Parts: sequence; structure tokens; C-alpha cells
Amino acid sequence: MIATTGLVDFHCHLDLYPDHALVVREADAAGVFTLAVTTTPQAWPRNQELAQCTKHVRAALGLHPQLVAEREDEIELWDQHLVETHYVGEVGLDAGPRFFKSLDAQKRVFRRVLERCAQAGGKIISVHSIRSAKAVLDLVEAHLPPERGKIVLHWFTGTKTEAKRALELGCYFSVNARMLDNERHAAMVQAIPLNRMLTETDGPFTRTGDKPSRPADVAHVVEVLGRLRGLSADDVANLVRGNLRALLG
Ligand code: MN
Repeated sequence: MIATTGLVDFHCHLDLYPDHALVVREADAAGVFTLAVTTTPQAWPRNQELAQCTKHVRAALGLHPQLVAEREDEIELWDQHLVETHYVGEVGLDAGPRFFKSLDAQKRVFRRVLERCAQAGGKIISVHSIRSAKAVLDLVEAHLPPERGKIVLHWFTGTKTEAKRALELGCYFSVNARMLDNERHAAMVQAIPLNRMLTETDGPFTRTGDKPSRPADVAHVVEVLGRLRGLSADDVANLVRGNLRALLG
């Protein structure tokens, strides 16, 4: 395994592990630049508090599309906290069978998120797009001018054509191990230029070995991505770190 210092886990739910404070400390000690996304703005203050004492962990303010059916009202709370952070996530759309019913509400929320980010400027947004790549990109194109904020498509599973459109809109992609296990998704990842690529675990929703992935497990993603692209793991790690710097630039 390669060293974890300087690797990037740009989408991990640190607040969903049994010991939130411990996984934050572990990620920081491992030197993994970790974006700790939140699924509801109610979880934001604690996430922000823990992340603020670290060098490598940053908290993102989210309202997960899978929770919008019950929590659409919390967009008001999301809005109140927005001024406190550069990072937004997890937000987006989910048109899978379990969440399709709330898709109209999800679109209202995501549109509001994009509009408020466009007004504020300078936000970096980690976006979920299950079975909704076209709708997500339509909303991004309509409501977030590229110079007003940056989109990172997390666990993107759209087509190559949709990925190409996303690239034209200036989006980045955060790639995890599960995507690289899947032949169709790996082929789509293969087509993403290296300068738009970030890495993620989406822990605890992916597993490494027999345990929920933690930020240091992103080393595995870097190695697999290297094999896919014919690069050393160190080269991939350096590229991704450079991409993060460009994104934050
Ligand atoms: Mn997630």
C-alpha cells in the first residue's frame, strides 16, 4: 500500500461512523485531505466543530436528496448556515426507485442550493446524481454559472456522453472503488481527463475488505485508478492533489 499522506477523500460521511470524533482524528493523522459531507443541515454544527480543529478535514453543508421527502423544510436551515463554509454536500438528485416519488421536491431543493451558491460565489459542491445525470446537469447549466462555483460529481454513473457534457460545464468527478469494479462505469472513468479527477471513499457506504471504508482506504482507489490509467499510484496521488489545489485555487 502507498503512503496515505496527501491523498484525497473528497466524499466521506465521517458523522455516520459510531465514533465520529475518532474517525476525524484518524483521517487527520493519516494526512488524507477529507471532505466530510453531511446529509442534513442539523448535522452541520458538530461536523464543522470537529473539522475545524484539524489540518486535513473540512466539513461540507448538505441536504441529501434521499432525505428531501421528509426534510424539505430543512433547506431554510441549510440556507442559514451557508455563509459559514466554502463546501456544500451532499446535495443533488436521486431518481432511483426508492426516491423517485420525491423527485419534484428534490429538484426544488437542488435548484435553491444552486441559486444560493451562485449568489454567494466560491462554493465547491459535492453532488449526487443517481439515475438523474441529465436533470442534474440541466439544473447546473441553468442555475450555476461556471465562474460562480465548482461542481464535483460524486459516484457519477451516467453515460460517457453525459460525462462529456459535465466536463464541458466545468465539473470535476470524485471516483471510488465501487465505480472501478463495474465494467461500464470503469469505461466511463477511463474517458475522464486526468485533470478533472478526484478520489473518494463514500464511506461508510463502500467497504474495504470486510469493513466500512475510512478515508485512509482511498489509497486502494488510487492504486486501482493507476492500473486503469497505466500510471503509478504515486503519479495518480500527485495528479489528484494538484487537481484539488486547482479546485480550491
Ligand atoms: Mn454519499
